[in-house]
Amino acid sequence: MRALSGSDADWRGAKTWSLVFYAGDELYQLQKAAYTMFISENALNPAAFPSLKRFEAEVLAMASDLFHGKSGDADAVGSMTSGGTESLLMAVKTARDLARAQRPEVTAPEMVMPVTAHPALLKAAHYFDVRPVRTPVRADCRADLDAFREAVGRNTILAVGSAPQYPHGVVDPIEEMSEIARAQDIPFHVDACLGGYLLPWVKLLGRDIPPFDFELPGVTSISADLHKYGFAAKGASTIFYRNRDLRMHQFFAVTDWPGGMYGSPTMTGTRPGGAIAAAWAVMKHLGKEGYTRLAAETMRITDTLVSGISSIDQLEVISDPEMSVFAFMSHEIDVMALATAMYKRGWRLDRQQLPDSLHMMVTPNHAKIIDPFIADLSECVAAAPGEPEGVGFYGAAGGSLTGDKDAKANVLAYLDGLG
Ligand SMILES: *Cc1c(COP(=O)(O)O)cnc(C)c1O
Repeated sequence: MRALSGSDADWRGAKTWSLVFYAGDELYQLQKAAYTMFISENALNPAAFPSLKRFEAEVLAMASDLFHGKSGDADAVGSMTSGGTESLLMAVKTARDLARAQRPEVTAPEMVMPVTAHPALLKAAHYFDVRPVRTPVRADCRADLDAFREAVGRNTILAVGSAPQYPHGVVDPIEEMSEIARAQDIPFHVDACLGGYLLPWVKLLGRDIPPFDFELPGVTSISADLHKYGFAAKGASTIFYRNRDLRMHQFFAVTDWPGGMYGSPTMTGTRPGGAIAAAWAVMKHLGKEGYTRLAAETMRITDTLVSGISSIDQLEVISDPEMSVFAFMSHEIDVMALATAMYKRGWRLDRQQLPDSLHMMVTPNHAKIIDPFIADLSECVAAAPGEPEGVGFYGAAGGSLTGDKDAKANVLAYLDGLG
């Protein structure tokens, strides 16, 4: 197994810009110890494992504080889930069921979101039979408010903004969007999967971060991933609702099953104890001081990388991202080919489209590679890189999806070919 892992993406060496959020060996060993201690426990039945019940409650309480869960009329409650996708599935399912209960006249439910919103939301729309209405973004890659306002209407059961969106790392105008939804009494979800556990600390450092959480009266739910900038082990995310009544529409219960009474808060049945325990350990260990320190380091590295990339004439960072996720493009060279050239030097840069760009997600671990990365990037740009490749499969920077089928058939064939 160790030998096989030798050909995996080198995240420890900080050669990758997605998929793994690594903040050093100390935190890694802590995750590992906490995870393995509860590797067999199952949070499906919290009564059997009061330890997990307490970990989950405390993780949620700490996070709820971070998101101003007690401001205004908010009395936020949440659940831990296995990841951002599950949190978003829950947000959409909850909004759909709320509408079923309160707005029976809506027979063709729709959810409105900018085109830059994460595909997990489209997956949720697909699974729960809600029609996605995708609205354009402005030149700065943030949601176009006129188009958004126009799209929210009679059949809308949920409106969504991102803090920040994944492709370019910019925060949508959440305050204005949530007010548009609130004016029509429509739930508004903030996808803070990426930024939820970083933006509050970045703000504390004195940077300009617009409000995006429950302090805004129109925000009714928030998703935030612990296994991203929460630096928890994989399999940990959170979903919050403005109040208990909302969350009630998330839960599932069966009372006439021969196996007994059955209740499940989220999508999954069995809920791995390790992920919950590791998230709790990391949050307790880091605390406000630790998270602020990691955020400061992440932003220092981001600033250095952004100025290094911007100093290369042919490259341009897209828009003005608030935190540590961004993309760069070029009007002069083919960045898809640039990604290939960088790949040959061991770097994994994810290729994006519309427009073609390369994606960066900065972690504290990247401190050690700033200089060699910028040096390789300058050399590869100067060498006018060779073979262009197609758009990358999300996150799989090494593979490209080009073929004679249409794009969707290619993606499906790729998945089919995995095993
Ligand atoms: C990562 C991400 C998701 C999905 O999270 P997973 O943990 O990969 O399921 C959703 N939204 C945004 C903005 C993300 O960055």
